[in-house]
Amino acid sequence: MSQIVFDNVTCQFKNKTKGVDSIDFTIHQGQFVFIVGPSGAGKTTILRLLLKEYTPSKGKIFVEEEEISKKRVSKEKIRRKIGSSFQDVKLLEDRTVEENIAVAMEIIGQKPQEIKENITKILKLVGLKNKKDLFPSQLSGGEIQRVGLARAVAGDPSIIFADEPTANLDSETSWKIVSLLKDINRSGKTVIVATHNKDIYDSMG
Ligand code: ADP
Repeated sequence: MSQIVFDNVTCQFKNKTKGVDSIDFTIHQGQFVFIVGPSGAGKTTILRLLLKEYTPSKGKIFVEEEEISKKRVSKEKIRRKIGSSFQDVKLLEDRTVEENIAVAMEIIGQKPQEIKENITKILKLVGLKNKKDLFPSQLSGGEIQRVGLARAVAGDPSIIFADEPTANLDSETSWKIVSLLKDINRSGKTVIVATHNKDIYDSMG
């Protein structure tokens, strides 16, 4: 099934800059997709369009057959389908790793019992079980990216969009993040990774 479709999409800002210009692509369910280009190419714009933070000035965007660029589709509905992690993962500094992930679950309306069950699974998936009681200031860059990805998968969305998940990480840590993204993909989710790092997608063949 085609899960995400961009049909001739342009996003022009008030200052006339175009974030993206007449782009078309289709992403199918279960795919692992890289969006690659230098800084300023439009990768984050694609994510913000998908999350309805930006509105296309031209063209149509479909997620699971529904045209999300229409007004009546709510941001909340989209966020249940697309879990996202931005390059600068912003964590609550006064909360632990576990609490930061729990907050993401609370926001989407999960019940305390549900949160308790899911959090153990997610901490294991992202490899942070032993770090769950640490605060953000006690984490490495790679671990912060893991918390970002944990929050992205917290609501069990069908699509994960990771924007520059390996920025500022050394190559070994980057590789581990890509390996985690592969695990997330294997668990049945479509994974989209925006990156300017050619080594990352070359290494994936
Ligand atoms: P990337 O993520 O590939 O680095 P972006 O999507 O952030 O690229 O940016 C694409 C282009 O759109 C850049 O020229 C950027 O300056 C511009 N842009 C992005 N967001 C805005 C905005 N809110 N207002 C004006 N210009 C923007």
